[in-house]
Amino acid sequence: MKAVVYKGTRSVAVEEVADAKVEQPTDAVIRVTTSNICGSDLHMYEGRASVDEGKVLGHENMGVVEEVGPGVDRIKVGDRVSVPFNIACGSCRSCNEGWTSFCERTNPIEGMQGAAYGYANMGPYDGGQAEFLRVPYADFNLLVLPPGDEHENDFTMLSDIFPTGWHGTVLAGHRPGDRVAVFGAGPVGLLAAHSARIQGAQEVYVVDRQSDRLRLAEQIDCTPIDFSDGDPVEQIMEASGGAGVDCGVEAVGWQAHDSNGDEHPEMVLDNLVQVVKAHGGIGVVGVYVPEGPDGPTELAKEGRVAFDYGTFFTKGQRMGTGQAPVKRYNRQLRDLIVSGVAAPGFLVSHELALDDAPTGYANFDKRLDGWTKVLLRP
Ligand code: NAD
Ligand code: ZN
Ligand code: ZN
Repeated sequence: MKAVVYKGTRSVAVEEVADAKVEQPTDAVIRVTTSNICGSDLHMYEGRASVDEGKVLGHENMGVVEEVGPGVDRIKVGDRVSVPFNIACGSCRSCNEGWTSFCERTNPIEGMQGAAYGYANMGPYDGGQAEFLRVPYADFNLLVLPPGDEHENDFTMLSDIFPTGWHGTVLAGHRPGDRVAVFGAGPVGLLAAHSARIQGAQEVYVVDRQSDRLRLAEQIDCTPIDFSDGDPVEQIMEASGGAGVDCGVEAVGWQAHDSNGDEHPEMVLDNLVQVVKAHGGIGVVGVYVPEGPDGPTELAKEGRVAFDYGTFFTKGQRMGTGQAPVKRYNRQLRDLIVSGVAAPGFLVSHELALDDAPTGYANFDKRLDGWTKVLLRP
């Protein structure tokens, strides 16, 4: 089968690889209909996450079930399914408590909890930027979708970024009527903003410096804040009449940069501590790494982020972090799409054939104007 394979820094290729197959009785194989390129894939693409050459990429997958193992009885051949990026066993302590992103059994790497398709340090699993994908523990992991091809561009956001954006608002403790600040208008930040709107936010400020992305934020009824126009905290304070916000979402990650492009891993956390009210919450879904050898400072290289913890403590704020447990949210979010309340497909900018993946990666990585979210159609 054809698949997108990691070849080294800023290099991917579409190659023939071994067919995905049922390896365990509880596996299914799906024929991939859509697989998205994610901001997280760029960490590997840019050579900032150690990944083996030859790895098949792709953790945002959906498709139609092609084959099931003898131990699969809920999922049937022909079902249209969304595949959560978390690969979870369904029976460990974390899975039992609903935290599939910290499954204790599926990642064989010592000290690591939580596994994913096609990702560095997330276990030996191939990704779905390919014609077919092997899904372990299929009965537990797969979400069945209405048959056909309706809402494909919305449903394809269910495998990662819609639940992740929603999770950011949950970690932040968002309540109806709140003012919210979302830092980062990438796909994750935009869907955190969309989630806050659906949940009845009073006002949503979305911070970035990419004008195309800020325009999308405006389209979904949020207030764009361009940090290249000046301190985003001051801009939000002014726009909110000095009130600041009740809660905030971090959707940028450790590569947060200033308007010159220089990286400051603590920058967005500091901004959030300043702009969120005392006793407010901060949800961090942007990725921070335990080790970042190419970080801008000695601290950053050790994964240490010197943010304004003193003010955070003094303000009695709360912070939640980590990979999103997709299964906690994906059923409800599917139903919000079907009922027309949610439409996360608004951010799709490009739909490419699998063969065009190298162009997709290169342009998305350069954050070329208008390259917001790239879907691959194997
Ligand atoms: P992205 O790179 O497309 O978007 C990040 C955005 O942040 C960019 O538009 C960039 O211009 C902006 N930005 C940079 N510095 C900023 C600053 N100082 N202030 C405000 N905005 C700034 O990535 P994405 O796909 O939207 O993902 C965002 C983050 O979420 C990444 O770190 C990704 O790895 C992570 N992620 C986490 C999970 C999870 O489960 N926790 C899942 C998916 C993605
Ligand atoms: Zn993703
Ligand atoms: Zn588990």
